[in-house]
Amino acid sequence: MAGGMIKDVLHEADLNLGGKPEKIIMLKCPACGTLNEENSKFCQECGQKI
Ligand SMILES: [Zn+2]
Repeated sequence: MAGGMIKDVLHEADLNLGGKPEKIIMLKCPACGTLNEENSKFCQECGQKI
């Protein structure tokens, strides 16, 4: 489980309220649709190469 990482992303989004949210870029897994951090090479959910 990588719940901690997801929590960090949500917290960062919270801090950006009122500003431009474009800093947060998520990569959508082509296999399962899970959103991964932009520097991810593999899906954190299913391991599919992004
Ligand atoms: Zn996936």
